[in-house]
Amino acid sequence: MRKLVCVTGGVLSGLGKGVVAASIGLLLKSRGYRVTMQKIDPYLNVDAGTMNPREHGEVFITIDGKETDLDIGRYERFLNEDLTADNSITTGQVYWNVIRRERNGEFLGQTVQIIPHVTDEIKRLIRRPVEKDGAEISVIEVGGTVGDIEGLPFLEALRQLKEEIPREDIVFIHVTLLPLLTSSDELKTKPTQHSVKELRAIGIQPDIIVARCNRPIPRTAKAKIALFCSIPPTHVIEDRDLPTPYGAPLALMEEKLDLRILEKLALPIESVNLERWKALTERIIKPAQRVKIGLVGKYTENGDSYISITDAFIHAGAELNVGVDITFLSAEQMQHDGMDPLLHDLDGVLVPGGFGERGIEGKVKAITYLRENKIPYFGICLGMQCAVIEFARNVVGLDGANSTEFDPATPYPVIDLMEEQTQVMQKGGTMRLGEYEAVLRDDSKSFTYYRCRHIRERHRHRFEFNPAFREELTRAGMRVAATSPDGQLVEIIELVDHPWFVAVQFHPEFRSRLLAPHPLFVGFLNACLTKKSS
Ligand code: GLN
Repeated sequence: MRKLVCVTGGVLSGLGKGVVAASIGLLLKSRGYRVTMQKIDPYLNVDAGTMNPREHGEVFITIDGKETDLDIGRYERFLNEDLTADNSITTGQVYWNVIRRERNGEFLGQTVQIIPHVTDEIKRLIRRPVEKDGAEISVIEVGGTVGDIEGLPFLEALRQLKEEIPREDIVFIHVTLLPLLTSSDELKTKPTQHSVKELRAIGIQPDIIVARCNRPIPRTAKAKIALFCSIPPTHVIEDRDLPTPYGAPLALMEEKLDLRILEKLALPIESVNLERWKALTERIIKPAQRVKIGLVGKYTENGDSYISITDAFIHAGAELNVGVDITFLSAEQMQHDGMDPLLHDLDGVLVPGGFGERGIEGKVKAITYLRENKIPYFGICLGMQCAVIEFARNVVGLDGANSTEFDPATPYPVIDLMEEQTQVMQKGGTMRLGEYEAVLRDDSKSFTYYRCRHIRERHRHRFEFNPAFREELTRAGMRVAATSPDGQLVEIIELVDHPWFVAVQFHPEFRSRLLAPHPLFVGFLNACLTKKSS
């Protein structure tokens, strides 16, 4: 077992514990350590694939095709590293494993219990990525708030681990809130004291407290927290509201959070270089110019439903020194509205991935407008399928063309299930998930952004561009810019006669990071800037 950094949360959910954990990962990596991260989700779903993005935020896809919580995406964006299924643990998965072993008779007549069997399984899953990747430090974020019933087995497993490994191999960081009481104009420490008390009752004494607040913490308040929670005042870390989460690593470094962690872990303190991160963060806060992008989707009320996409725009924007203002447009609503008032003012439009029939006609209608008015268009997954449907209907004249997902009886199934996929579904799998290779045509627009022929991108879909229609559509001006290596599956389409109309069957947003923005997002934003200035 290597070194463990455990991040728990108290007082309230939604404190930005994930951002703190990801920042710790980045800071330790920047100090020269090999770092991995893990998210513990105390819900009973085996993975996040079945959860509603409206309530729970986006489903993130790892290279090996695991449908995870959006926090894994944040870790990747901060760490600038690919994570896998092993980096996510849910209660559902833990119990699933234990119960399967019980049914297989592997417990040899024992009574199977939460302690030790469930906690043993949790400890096994916590060790897994460290053993596999050879990481020196693993940062583990425990989802939820201390005191929740669901989180207890996980905290108990961490408590046991603490007893099993040397004291300098594990550090506990507790993230809490210091609410501001306006009547007395004071940051209150009592909720933090109570939540630390709760944590101690479980047998865990935090080493460091990260206190979320909206103003500087006075020395007296830090002293009070230190006294009541039995830690030195230097170990109370201020975590102030920031204009962008990407500023958090810098702010927490200023507070010496990384140094406190390394001291506790008895690790040498190597020098750090975050200059590029800092420069990009400054551009996020004060970009030289701005563009307006429309996002036509199913969810318009929760920004987290498309967080990898909105973050990919932040990354590409930082690269180009441009701020991106995103207008969320409801596809369903657009079915009934005129396009001009909604779209004419935008510098570009993106249609993201999605499932089900709702809002499809609105998306198709929007794409017609963008195609005809030469407004930059970026289609992702379902956004590509809608572009194919639109082109087939309105350019090629295939009336009623559709995806068999939405109209099984369509006369022109331009998007359809492929033989291969039907087999996958018969085997109990449902989707083409995870990273696949694609090959670009070197005379395509996309090639000029990727600057290489072989790419790897993440997928999450069932349906594909139907090869039976490929020739007819390409003859009419749709370029197939990339396919699977065997040439069978269409991965990218472009319109020849349009300033920027690129649509992809995969999800480029899952690969975008602040330090490595995705080439297609950069290309699209560039096109939007050109449109704006024309
Ligand atoms: N619903 C489509 C499919 O299953 C698109 C999926 C997506 O956009 N992620 O193929």
